Amino acid sequence: MDSSSDNTLIIFFLVAFALYSFSRYLKYNLPGSAYLKHKIGRHLMYGKLNPIYQPYLYKNFPVLNQLSEDNRLLFESRVQRFINMKTFLSRGEIKQVTPEMKALIAGSAIQITMGYPEVYFSHFRTIIIYPDMYYSKLTKHYHNGEVNQLGVIVVSWKSFMEGFRDPRDGVNLGYHEMAHALKLQNIVENNDYEFFDSLIMNQFEKEAIKEMQKVKDIPAGASFFREYSATNLNEFFAVAIENYIERPTELKAYNIKLYHLLSKILNFDLLEISPYSS
Ligand SMILES: [Zn+2]
Repeated sequence: MDSSSDNTLIIFFLVAFALYSFSRYLKYNLPGSAYLKHKIGRHLMYGKLNPIYQPYLYKNFPVLNQLSEDNRLLFESRVQRFINMKTFLSRGEIKQVTPEMKALIAGSAIQITMGYPEVYFSHFRTIIIYPDMYYSKLTKHYHNGEVNQLGVIVVSWKSFMEGFRDPRDGVNLGYHEMAHALKLQNIVENNDYEFFDSLIMNQFEKEAIKEMQKVKDIPAGASFFREYSATNLNEFFAVAIENYIERPTELKAYNIKLYHLLSKILNFDLLEISPYSS
């Protein structure tokens, strides 16, 4: 082999290595605006989960231990894709968005969209994390979390973590806000538009109105759904989804009709998942 072909070979390997390094860099550090990141991330990044997120997912999302190998990998890669697509911003004393924050926020989104593997809340590009309750200029109130029409999801990290402390109590801010995002997603016009069946949604709302009345009639703390669910139909929807995911057995025993409607709306049934189904 002469020296010129030697050089060609070296250049080839150097270029290949540079391209590989750059693609690795892009995968986890996609630059640019939230809009660009969202557009590029949606199409380019659909790979394996960065192992840094794995322990947080397995600790907080019990469904992962129920899924078949294929669906577990799908859940993981969807989490990575969600992280790649969104811009995470911290506020106040939170100086840096940690891998735990990204894993849990993305995990909540992927948990509730298990039945819609192509839905990534494309209307929502930015996620803002506050240390505790924060003042919203929009509503002029203090909040634990909100999703707004401008395409921003806001959470208080303290309240968010409290939701995961007991994974079976039916209270989880992450699922709550993602449920609002999912409903808004279906209302605002975008790529994922209209994945809910309006007939099923109507039946759900009829059932929701009955349940909200029960919450108002029964003394505080004695009803299945917590008091806050009776605020309005949107809040009932979000609270119902928290319960559907954290205590499906109890919800099914309490109101089987509502349980089935929610499983149709979300397009997955947590109690029917077996590790052998794909
Ligand atoms: Zn709410």
